[in-house]
Amino acid sequence: MTFSDASLGMGRPIQRRDFLNGALMSGAAILAPGGLARAAGDPGPYPPALTGMRGSGYPTAYSTGHALRDHVFAPKGLASETADSYDLIVVGGGISGLAAAWFYQQRHGGKARVLVIDNHDDFGGHAKRNEFGEGAGMRLSNAGSFNIFADDHDSGAHVDLYRTLGIDIAALARDTVDPGFYHRLGMGQGVFFDRETFGRDVLLPDPAPWTDFGFLYAPNVPPDAQSRWARFMAEAPLSERARADLHRLYHAATDYLPGISVEEKVRRLDTMSYADYLTGPVGCDPMVATYLRDRTFGSGRGLSSTTALSAHQRFGLPGFAGLGLPAAYDTDESGTSYHFPEGNATVARLLVGRLIPGALKGRDAAAVMLERVDYARLDDPANATRIRLNATAFHVANGPGGVEVSYTLGGVDGLLRKTRAKQCVLACWNYVIPYICPDLPAPQREALAYNVKTPNLWVNVWLNNWRAFHRAGTCFMNAPGSYFASLILEQPVSIGGYAHSATPDDPTVMTMLRGYETPGLPIKDQFRLGRAELYATPFETFERETRSQLARALGPHGFDPARDIAGLTVNRWGHGYSYWYSALYDDFLKTGAPPPHLAARQPFGAIAIANTDSGGTDSTELAIDMAARAVAELG
Ligand SMILES: Cc1cc2nc3c(=O)[nH]c(=O)nc-3n(C[C@H](O)[C@H](O)[C@H](O)COP(=O)(O)OP(=O)(O)OC[C@H]3O[C@@H](n4cnc5c(N)ncnc54)[C@H](O)[C@@H]3O)c2cc1C
Repeated sequence: MTFSDASLGMGRPIQRRDFLNGALMSGAAILAPGGLARAAGDPGPYPPALTGMRGSGYPTAYSTGHALRDHVFAPKGLASETADSYDLIVVGGGISGLAAAWFYQQRHGGKARVLVIDNHDDFGGHAKRNEFGEGAGMRLSNAGSFNIFADDHDSGAHVDLYRTLGIDIAALARDTVDPGFYHRLGMGQGVFFDRETFGRDVLLPDPAPWTDFGFLYAPNVPPDAQSRWARFMAEAPLSERARADLHRLYHAATDYLPGISVEEKVRRLDTMSYADYLTGPVGCDPMVATYLRDRTFGSGRGLSSTTALSAHQRFGLPGFAGLGLPAAYDTDESGTSYHFPEGNATVARLLVGRLIPGALKGRDAAAVMLERVDYARLDDPANATRIRLNATAFHVANGPGGVEVSYTLGGVDGLLRKTRAKQCVLACWNYVIPYICPDLPAPQREALAYNVKTPNLWVNVWLNNWRAFHRAGTCFMNAPGSYFASLILEQPVSIGGYAHSATPDDPTVMTMLRGYETPGLPIKDQFRLGRAELYATPFETFERETRSQLARALGPHGFDPARDIAGLTVNRWGHGYSYWYSALYDDFLKTGAPPPHLAARQPFGAIAIANTDSGGTDSTELAIDMAARAVAELG
């Protein structure tokens, strides 16, 4: 069935058109809080409540960076020097940059003059808040970064910082998450087969256990798995062989790598993709890999770019039960994960509350969940720490007595400013640093450029109700052939006056994820292609795909996109997850050479390098630990 634009509701006045394609449609210049000239007392729009194209996907955020990348940045005149000067300038206002400001202040008794600049109209980097609606129906979601993590044997600066911010992950996970919520309503995972890939549109209950995000749902294995499998075997639009292979994959404890030692098995699993493992040693029909293709997209990589070992350890995907692997290889996460309703924006917001007097009254997660940050206070000269938004550094250099940082205000056509500090932390992305700090030695610039980030698309769809999901019995939909690979209904977390949507008649939020992969290409080329597609896609396409996929999957259960969708926030992260190493792609892992991030993060004069990239992988905890290291290096 195809749908007309009218039946999809493409013309409906939902909240989305303020930032079509990332550009403000009112005709006025985009002026956002903290950093741009405004009428006195006017903080501008409240960034978390903006809808339309968000994430990093609007021109003021990326235009200067892309002009630098394309070697077409031609500033009109010289940057005018600001009257203010600082002890420290931090480039990048994500978790790492905010943590660097905090650690620096701790070292200097809270009296240092610190300026944090960031190219977005909001702070937090990937850890931003999306907010929609008002009063009891107000909904929250993460724009990007989803969950924090505590290992039982954790150490590092992030442990102390979480304590300072009142974040006790074990207690939060125990007291604020209701993992059985959807199960009690008869809801679980579903799988949507689309006609282009599988021959017909049909939504079925997914018989598999939870994989990614499993910490939010219980029971992990559906208690009605047997009847789900029976229905799946009868109705799934797959060949008989593919269905039989899937059943075997999930049920048989076969050793698919017989006659070799455990060490050799692990070595092979670590150097073979999961797609190759399925169609090679396991002997599955290629359609099995197609059917499972979206299951690793949460990591930004498809099945052909994910090692078989990682498919087993990180995603709990099937096919390993008979290999005789010791328990140590069963999972690489033994601690506790936790998701705030606004994702890791809570960590960023709590940090801002500590750094900027009066920006936020609440002192812990529960106290701030419903509180808005006072953006008018972020760049207040009266404070020791200031946060200047819409400010993109284009040149950072050591000079006599310190560091000079030049930046645009409000995008590539905006004002040019130069500000001085004694020291500088670059808490922006490794990949950006060679462009803005060209004086770095060539080998270090090369090591920095090694980190090519993953493109990520997280679309938050604000819904008036979730009755169709309830009728369909699904709160989490895998959609292996569709435009969006995963559809995730609001997480069952209630904290500090914020309660997750309680009944199917209430407003809620649903997140749709798209994976970008081009099997067969080197992973960094896959990322570059995905990023190009992400930036070339207009808002209208994202909106139409959203509406049409929901109509196709849930229309038979009563979903009407024209009626049920209240708003749309498209979080486009061209440079999303940090690059992490894999034996499929990174030769130094085989030769034993040192990993590039160690050469990349060397201090340079009065400049130190933070950010999660500088730790060689990707996490909130690492972003914080790297900030502490960088600040310590400055002495
Ligand atoms: C969609 C998504 C989901 C994620 N989910 C999780 C998760 O669930 N758990 C988890 O632990 N991690 C997650 N991450 C990883 C996340 O990147 C890290 O955990 C962490 O937030 C990174 O912090 P950071 O400060 O190092 O980088 P960022 O958050 O990227 O912050 C760096 C900031 O520097 C800015 N910047 C870059 N260049 C310049 C410049 N020239 N001038 C000024 N500013 C500049 C950037 O725009 C950005 O705002 C996710 C990432 C994405 C994209």
